[in-house]
Amino acid sequence: MYTSRQIVLLMLLILTSAVHALPLDSTPVPGGIAIIRLPADIDTRTLRYNGRKILVTQQEADNFAVIGLSLGTKPGRYHLQGKTVHGKPLSIAFNVESKQYEEQRITIKDKRKVNPEKRDLERIGREKKQIDTALEHWSERDSVAVDFRKPVEGPTSSPFGLRRFFNDQPRNPHSGLDIAAAEGTPIHAPAPGTVIETGDFFFNGNTVLIDHGQGLVTMYCHMSAIDVTPGTVVATGDVIGEVGMTGRVTGPHLHWGVSLNDARIDPTLFLPADQATAE
Ligand SMILES: [Zn+2]
Repeated sequence: MYTSRQIVLLMLLILTSAVHALPLDSTPVPGGIAIIRLPADIDTRTLRYNGRKILVTQQEADNFAVIGLSLGTKPGRYHLQGKTVHGKPLSIAFNVESKQYEEQRITIKDKRKVNPEKRDLERIGREKKQIDTALEHWSERDSVAVDFRKPVEGPTSSPFGLRRFFNDQPRNPHSGLDIAAAEGTPIHAPAPGTVIETGDFFFNGNTVLIDHGQGLVTMYCHMSAIDVTPGTVVATGDVIGEVGMTGRVTGPHLHWGVSLNDARIDPTLFLPADQATAE
C-alpha cells in the first residue's frame, strides 16, 4: 500500500506531467509545429531544420524536437538533420500536410495605416528589421517551457493564419492570435523568459518581445502601457503591460505572436486544450 505522502507525491507527478504535456498528436501543417521523438544517441545541439537550430524538450524519458513551420511552408516531405553523439549523420523525415485558413476582410479608417506615406516607409523598414531580429533570436536555455499560460483572459477576436485583406487589398496573413479585452487589462508572461525588445511601432503599436530560449520568442502588440524593459527577466504570470489599441487596430485587443525557429506559428498550440479554442 502507498502511504498518504507517497500518494501526494504521485499526484504531483501526474499533475506536473499533464501540465507540461505537448500536443503530441498535432498534425504538422503550415503555421503549426512538427514534434519528433529523438533517438537516444542524438547530439541535440547538432539538430537543424532549414539551416536553423531546433528546440528540444524532454517529456518523460524521451527527447522531442519541436519544429516551427512557417505559414509559407508547402505541403510535402521535410527533413530534420543532425548527428549522433558518435558524429554519424542522421536525417529524420516528416510530412507537412496542407491547411486552408479562412479569409478576413477588415476596413481600416486610418488609410495611412493601409497605404503608408513615403515618410512612413523608412520607419516601417527600420522597425521590421528590429522586430525580425528579435523574432529569430536564439539563446541557450536548458529547459524551455512549452506549456503556456494564456497572457490575457478573453475571447478570440481573430484567429491565427487568416488570409487578410485591408480595405480590399491583400496583405500578409495574420501571424498571431487576437484576444479581445478591455483597455488596461493586464498582460501576463505566458512562460519564463527575458524581455529582448520593446518599442512603439507603426503597425504594432506599443510592443514587447520575450525570449523564452532555444528559438522560442513571443510578441505582444497594441499595448496601452509597457511595464518592462529589454533585459527584464519574467516568470510565468508576471505582468508585462496592459491591453490597448495603439498601432493598426479597429478596437482594443492583444495581438499575441509566437515565433519558433523563426517561423510564426499558432499560439494556441502551447495552451492547455480548454483555453485553446475560441469562445
Ligand atoms: Zn492580430
